[in-house]
Amino acid sequence: MTLADRLARTVRDVPDFPAPGILFKDITPILAQPALLSEAVTAMASSLAELGVTHVVGVESRGFLFGVPIAMRLGVPFAPARKPGKLPWTTEREAYALEYREDVLEMHVDVFHGGHGEPPRVAVVDDVLATGGTAAATCRLVERLGGEVVAVSVVLELGFLHGRDALSGRTVRSLLRY
Ligand code: AMP
Repeated sequence: MTLADRLARTVRDVPDFPAPGILFKDITPILAQPALLSEAVTAMASSLAELGVTHVVGVESRGFLFGVPIAMRLGVPFAPARKPGKLPWTTEREAYALEYREDVLEMHVDVFHGGHGEPPRVAVVDDVLATGGTAAATCRLVERLGGEVVAVSVVLELGFLHGRDALSGRTVRSLLRY
């Protein structure tokens, strides 16, 4: 069975969470299987290694679960993109529209400091790509801080929500597409 098949069998579908009509893709069963988790992280990391990634940015909060081990596999720094008010140091922020409200992500301003001239080659990591609004906002924030986004990497992609359209022109890598 392929990795995608095994991931598909492991992800838990939770109807009407967190709101009626949403079929939530719960990745926690992947976290409970260390061999499968390790294989998923390795697959995501090796596809990013080909792109010469120098930094991994994980999107709060499930992006941290995959982003940190990917950064460790690649031997590159990890930086979190967090909900407002969580990061203690000086931050840059990016607001983005959701269906009924606006949301904000923040990153520390110094995450890409200490390089040697060339812009950092950044991978943005999350668990699920849905409409792409969150990933697109993270990409804009990374770029405002001087990074070049070379890929958006997710475990699962909900293709019917056309997240790639919100990320047009960007490289998107997913292990499993619905
Ligand atoms: P979006 O901005 O629409 O691409 O939503 C992406 C964020 O919401 C990601 O951080 C996902 O973790 C989460 N998300 C959106 N839709 C789902 C879903 N159906 N199942 C699980 N997570 C989701």
